[in-house]
Amino acid sequence: MTSTTAVMGNYGRADLAFSHGEGSWLISTDGDRYLDFATGIAVNTLGHSHPKLVDALTRQAGKLWHVSNLYNIPEQAELAQILAKRSGLDQVFFCNSGAEATEAAVKMARRAMHHMGHHNRHKILCAEGAFHGRTIAMLAATDRPAFREGFGPMPDGFGHFPFGNMNALRDQLISDAESGAPEIAAVMVESVQGEGGARPLPDGFLAELRAVTNEVGCLLIADEVQIGVGRSGHLFSFEPSGIKPDIIAMAKGLAGGFPIGAVIATEAVGSAMTPGSHGSTFGGNPLAMQAACAVLDVLDADFLADMRSRSAMLFAELDGLKQKHQAIIEIRGNGFLIGLVLADHLTPLDVMAACRAHHMLVVPAAANTVRLLPPLNVRTEDIHHAVAVLDTVLSACEEKASHNHD
Ligand SMILES: *Cc1c(COP(=O)(O)O)cnc(C)c1O
Repeated sequence: MTSTTAVMGNYGRADLAFSHGEGSWLISTDGDRYLDFATGIAVNTLGHSHPKLVDALTRQAGKLWHVSNLYNIPEQAELAQILAKRSGLDQVFFCNSGAEATEAAVKMARRAMHHMGHHNRHKILCAEGAFHGRTIAMLAATDRPAFREGFGPMPDGFGHFPFGNMNALRDQLISDAESGAPEIAAVMVESVQGEGGARPLPDGFLAELRAVTNEVGCLLIADEVQIGVGRSGHLFSFEPSGIKPDIIAMAKGLAGGFPIGAVIATEAVGSAMTPGSHGSTFGGNPLAMQAACAVLDVLDADFLADMRSRSAMLFAELDGLKQKHQAIIEIRGNGFLIGLVLADHLTPLDVMAACRAHHMLVVPAAANTVRLLPPLNVRTEDIHHAVAVLDTVLSACEEKASHNHD
């Protein structure tokens, strides 16, 4: 297919464009209203045109857009303090995207080991099915062979363990520690794999992982890029497990739609990052900082408690759909990162296209899963509407599939 624009063809795009948004709704350039259960892939935390976010950004836009990290940036200090306080960690580095955050998290883990005199501990273990971004290094961390095709060679220093399998992971960590020349610097996990199909780690996994990483002296990196910023129903998804990671990577929803990345680290890790060790021209830009402060201001304990009850309602309604439709074999995820695992005769792209035809946006994922990523402030009537659309779409998909079998 020849492209009709000068935009590179590296995305499979729907022939649809939007002119503006209001809350959980996007308005297309044709004037149609779409219910947004995609949120730009977990980015529009508070939907579209949230007055507090618009206000924070436009006020900053009239004052100062950019200064270099050669100077103090008070807006960074403000956001860093909020993130440190709410995570229980100590220091924050700012960048502009998820891959930059995960990559910086890996650099920090290696550097911290180096700083402590463990010069061989450079390896990062990730889960099978993980997605950590698309830079060359993060492609090695990400477990999607198709994404690597033609981009090799992959850098060394990354390995994978079977998803959710604590025994296998513990064996790898212990045998590395007992080898006499340990190589593993850190384990990096998403508590719910987003791109991997809204797959949550088994209950108790994070607590066991924290215990075994402490035992062998390696670091724990939480990739909260997608599940963080309240999407799990808690500001950080690991909160209910009671653990504290050494390093937390954040991005997507942190500034509600303004580009941002952040890495939160303990004092022990952060102290290895001496002046000149890492940097980013745009990282910690005042516009991004103000937008993120406004998002975090909205995501207080009351908001999150209310969100958890709306999430429970959505899960209950989806469970009803699963009873009714053989097309859904599993509902999984956490908070507002929800996966509908489809039966083999359906594909996520078919369901996504059918939803779009009914003016609702959803996101495909691996493992034959459709992802629902509503804004965290989605209203209950919009949740009911979404479930009604899915009901219609699944009935139509099933009918089509049964005709294909005739
Ligand atoms: C999206 C994502 C990334 C990469 O973020 P980009 O901003 O696209 O670079 C990394 N980790 C996880 C868990 C993600 O979902």
